[in-house]
Amino acid sequence: MSLLRIAVQSKGRLYDETMELLSEAGIKLTAVKRTLLVPSRNFPVELLFLRDDDIPDSVASGTADIGIVGLNEVMEKQRNVEIVRPLGFSRCRLSLAIPKNIEYTGLAWFNNRKIATSYPVILDEFLKKNGIKADIHVITGSVEIAPGIGLADAIFDIVSSGSTLVSNNLAEVETVVKSEAVLIAGSKKLSAEKQEVLDELLFRIEAVKAAGDRKYILMNVPKDKLDEVISVLPGIKSPTVLPLADPNWCSVHTVLEEKCFWEIINKIKSAGAEGILVLDIEKMVL
Ligand code: AMP
Repeated sequence: MSLLRIAVQSKGRLYDETMELLSEAGIKLTAVKRTLLVPSRNFPVELLFLRDDDIPDSVASGTADIGIVGLNEVMEKQRNVEIVRPLGFSRCRLSLAIPKNIEYTGLAWFNNRKIATSYPVILDEFLKKNGIKADIHVITGSVEIAPGIGLADAIFDIVSSGSTLVSNNLAEVETVVKSEAVLIAGSKKLSAEKQEVLDELLFRIEAVKAAGDRKYILMNVPKDKLDEVISVLPGIKSPTVLPLADPNWCSVHTVLEEKCFWEIINKIKSAGAEGILVLDIEKMVL
């Protein structure tokens, strides 16, 4: 049986989170020590470990069937690949930054300036779209030091927390692109066998992601307050209500989205719930 080959980043920011996602999806690898091509021992996939900027090409050329890579690389490389699913991790943005002591007067400031970047294609497209004529200077690493050493007036680079910019006395002035890890596929149709494996993988990723931003909540509620508590619960369908040894009380179980957790929890408490337990959910099949 031919294995679905997934190109993944061999090191760097995306590596850890990609491995974590695959592991949560139940995919175990044969070798702990990383070699270039590693098959799984319990799922019909093999991982091809590459540099991130080689991943779009490997998928477009069919060397790998699918890949997990930053959207920034997909946009920069402009290969013939399709985005199958955004994965929600390694979020960052591609931004223009200038020395912080310079007053920024708007995009026109970049006219006739020199901008250092490792993303010339995305930058060129952005500048053209906005009618700015600047000199793009391509460097592959440590872009943030370019203005400090007189190599450029500004930079166009990846920003995550922004601390790299701060420590190089730079200020972010324009966000051009928001990026995150994405799952990509080539334009060629996969064999039925491989498509089935990809569908199963996507099903598992969906379950991991759905669980990730939800919590399982249990609480004790006096029976006469039950309707009031249920009315503030935005559960999946309807909450589970179980009897307790004390006939005047019951136990209510439900699932909450993490983002509305604090708002809801206060409402539940004021409605009369006690002994509220909050548990992580490992997988969730909707
Ligand atoms: P930060 O100091 O957190 O803003 O991170 C900035 C540096 O980390 C950039 O120069 C990037 O090289 C790198 N970086 C941050 N996030 C990512 C990401 N999602 N993918 C690749 N590189 C990143």
